[in-house]
Amino acid sequence: MQHVLVFDVDGTLTASRRPMDGAFAAFFRQLVERYPIYLVTGSDWGKLCEQVPGDIREGVRGVFCCSGNELWHKGVALFSMSHSFPDDLSALALELVNQSRFPLRTGRHVEPRTGSLNVSVVGRNAGLAERRSYVRHDARHHEREAMIAAIEERFPDYEAHRGGEISIDISPRGWNKGRVAKELVSRHPDAQIDFFGDRISDRGNDAPLAQALREMGSHHHVQEVREPAETFAILRSRYPVNVGIQQQAGVA
Ligand SMILES: [Mg+2]
Repeated sequence: MQHVLVFDVDGTLTASRRPMDGAFAAFFRQLVERYPIYLVTGSDWGKLCEQVPGDIREGVRGVFCCSGNELWHKGVALFSMSHSFPDDLSALALELVNQSRFPLRTGRHVEPRTGSLNVSVVGRNAGLAERRSYVRHDARHHEREAMIAAIEERFPDYEAHRGGEISIDISPRGWNKGRVAKELVSRHPDAQIDFFGDRISDRGNDAPLAQALREMGSHHHVQEVREPAETFAILRSRYPVNVGIQQQAGVA
């Protein structure tokens, strides 16, 4: 059975918002030559370009940006689903940002993207130290979980997920990474889809795609990872790219 490999980006292929590690990228290039590969990121195309080398972006079959609301191939957007969010939803998001007891605000707290609204207490301008500080705050207070609950209670037609390390993504109900599963299966109806993500459990932003794949067939495979190094290690053991003929046996 053909394998189609699908990867979340932040926390799975790269550290959050950081470029891909050089050794991992070198291995990944070989993987791109042997398997149909898709990337699925909450970020937009511009941010993805800062993280993933150009030849890998060109080599993959598609990049789903903005949580699956855009599909890019070789630098061209094939589709884009936009949504206009109600003002009182944006207002609630800003109110939640202002209510947080976390002391730092770096700017860009409520950011519209294609099909989603990205909300971050510390703000998208946060540097590495500020991000880390917020990650500790969130781990201690489960702040993002509380924000998600508050939003979904007031706006039941919308859903929210933790995105990356410091933000949540709000989208119309059903507009999540899960929709990517349908597109993948229609493009590769007979393949086994292997999905790697770092936010599959606890309602993370990879959970809708993982769940959709599980519902579409038990032959699909979902792998939760803790960090890019773990993704790299699993790929090296499961998809040996340098051994020619064993390559197919290695993925059984
Ligand atoms: Mg991730």
